[in-house]
Amino acid sequence: MEKRYLMTPGPTPVPPQVLAAEAEPMVHHRGPDFQTTYTSVLERLKQVHRTANPVLLFAASGTGAMDSAVSNLTRAGEKAAVVVAGSFGERWTKICAHYDLEVERIDYTWGEVPNPAEIGAAVAASGAKYLFCTQSETSTGVVVDVQAIKAAAGDAIVVVDAISSLGAVPLEVDAWGIDVTVSGSQKALMCPPGLATATAADHVWEQLPAKSRTFYFDWRATKKAQESFDAAFTPAVSLIRGMDVALGMILDAGLDEGLAKHVRLGRAARAGVKAMGLELFSPDDDTSAVVTAVRCPEGVDGSALLRHLRDRHGVTLAPGQGALKGKIVRIGHIGWFDIFDIATALSALELSLTELGATVERGVAATAAFDAYEQTVTA
Ligand SMILES: *Cc1c(COP(=O)(O)O)cnc(C)c1O
Repeated sequence: MEKRYLMTPGPTPVPPQVLAAEAEPMVHHRGPDFQTTYTSVLERLKQVHRTANPVLLFAASGTGAMDSAVSNLTRAGEKAAVVVAGSFGERWTKICAHYDLEVERIDYTWGEVPNPAEIGAAVAASGAKYLFCTQSETSTGVVVDVQAIKAAAGDAIVVVDAISSLGAVPLEVDAWGIDVTVSGSQKALMCPPGLATATAADHVWEQLPAKSRTFYFDWRATKKAQESFDAAFTPAVSLIRGMDVALGMILDAGLDEGLAKHVRLGRAARAGVKAMGLELFSPDDDTSAVVTAVRCPEGVDGSALLRHLRDRHGVTLAPGQGALKGKIVRIGHIGWFDIFDIATALSALELSLTELGATVERGVAATAAFDAYEQTVTA
């Protein structure tokens, strides 16, 4: 038996307190035992989203919440603009097409940073009623300015996939006027996969179609049940208990302090990668607080590198997706991560590349990472 290190941007490591809460004996979901936890989670979710509106909680992976947004908001035949700059933007196009929307793609090369003014112009030109976008495109490491996108989008209903960004980078749902936000449990919220969230502004609720195109993910039914601290269907009791502990940890430590920590972890990862002579794929600035994507050096196949890291050293990093498969590796640093995790990921990368015959600068990455981490963030 060897020690394993999970360093992917989802699922992410789960704190022992959260795992312990999830292992507690089962309680009935309609009794007072569970109601206390449920009430607390629903309130804490509002705080983490910085919204006064209800946050709907579903037993699903993040994609379930994306599906719920399209199927509750839209009618077949309506026009939806989608920012596509990576694998998760592609997912929005597939869901929109599945529900018979007319999809207007706003395409960017994977790794390019989408431009809010360009997006606003494209939405206006298309006459789209909705704009679907991804705050943190986990496949590339690019984080977009959703506040500026919302400001540029005119009257379009802006739907933000905040699955890997919630709790990692700033997201002010109410202050920025974000119309709809969806997220998931297994990224920066430090929980196992299995819970998904959706929240919508008042004016969105007022203009929802009379009938949801989905039964299980019906927003109105879920909202109504949650208002009486009940659930429409049997909730994922154990996962929700864990989430209550995780959100408590995030809020006790301070949401802003947590965001600043993520900026510093990103700085540390980039400094270490560059110090060993590797090239970054994700942007080399403080927006890259979710995942650091690294180009594989000449002659090294990313898939072989990941296998070596895992089999030889017990370290799991994430692969490139789509056309980036084999060309980049990604180090996640959202949620239950600290500077020593970054040092471990960098050291394992350095060692594995050396063992695979690549030339890297040895013995400097961890030091560069610690130095970068120490510099304080003033936001
Ligand atoms: C992980 C992720 C998803 C998908 O979530 P699942 O839980 O796998 O369904 C969607 N969007 C982004 C940006 C993600 O990082």
